[in-house]
Amino acid sequence: MGKTGVLTPTAVFEPVDIDGSIIERASLHNISIMNKLGITHKGQIVNVYKANTVIPQIDSVEEDDTEITNSNIITPLNLCPFCHSDTSIIKDNDTDVLVCTNPNCKGKLLGKLSHFVSKNAIGIEGLSDQTLQKFIDLGWLSSFKDIYYLSEHKEEMYKINGFGKKSVDKLLESIEKSRNTTLDRFIYGLCIPLIGRTASKTISSFCRKIAIRDLLDDIYVFYNYGTFNANDLNGLGEIMCKSLNDYISQKKNEIMELSKEFNIESNIRKQDNITNNLILTNMVFVITGSLNHYKNRNDLISVIEQFGGKVSGSVSSKTSYLINNNITSTSGKNAKAKQLNIPIISEEDFIQLIS
Ligand SMILES: [Zn+2]
Repeated sequence: MGKTGVLTPTAVFEPVDIDGSIIERASLHNISIMNKLGITHKGQIVNVYKANTVIPQIDSVEEDDTEITNSNIITPLNLCPFCHSDTSIIKDNDTDVLVCTNPNCKGKLLGKLSHFVSKNAIGIEGLSDQTLQKFIDLGWLSSFKDIYYLSEHKEEMYKINGFGKKSVDKLLESIEKSRNTTLDRFIYGLCIPLIGRTASKTISSFCRKIAIRDLLDDIYVFYNYGTFNANDLNGLGEIMCKSLNDYISQKKNEIMELSKEFNIESNIRKQDNITNNLILTNMVFVITGSLNHYKNRNDLISVIEQFGGKVSGSVSSKTSYLINNNITSTSGKNAKAKQLNIPIISEEDFIQLIS
């Protein structure tokens, strides 16, 4: 069972030697592929090869005239092998897949925890699937957060066969170390459907941008942003954005609570680095017209705010500068600025000002 509750059928056959290794199992991937290959009954003869010289694959099934009976028929499991709840066959991108219908299935939990602690996610050494399963069975793990409270079971862990004090201490140490992480690893670890490593990095950079602009924590932006859309997250399609937004709206509190266990690289600390450079303090800027130097208005706003300035939407007596590349424009904002004797400056002038 994978982390989303999909059960993958596996073919088990008589051992065969391919390129010096004995092969006796191969993934059948999903129900569609299983049907397409014509897997119907026990005792069928299959042709096996190693894809990329590593992974065993079923190439085809030999035709035979065995009569299919109740005792040899192969059908997808009706009950989940982990929690014994009903299974169901659902469509996933035109592919039939077998899933466990129980949202709290222990099998899913193992897949999720295993993904969460994997190298590219949070990265905790020494938490193998076998160990995770043991801790689940002992009732110590039912969520990601529980990993950070495993030390409460230290004494009991010492007594588990095959563990040893040294390896327990090492494991707990590696759990503590994992508290220092980055937002993209954290997001990737959550097992949000359709959100892989690349997407997690895209989401994380976007949150960072907003976080810098508004002087917030990256993680705070992540769970508080509201609705991410494809324009924000270049490279993520609408379906991925929907999956992300659905996940956050359902699990906001859980994410918030979990994030408390971590020191996620944050921009709050960066504030200290720029306090010496708040040369725009007490200045209010209004921006109008198109920009050439900065990618968009938000980029310029973030720079002004980093230097301690404020940005307002309309020109008033409180405005310090109107930024407009077209200084001679007769737009309403230009006219108002002229009327109030407020300097109109170009982007280049602004860059001069902060340098
Ligand atoms: Zn189940």
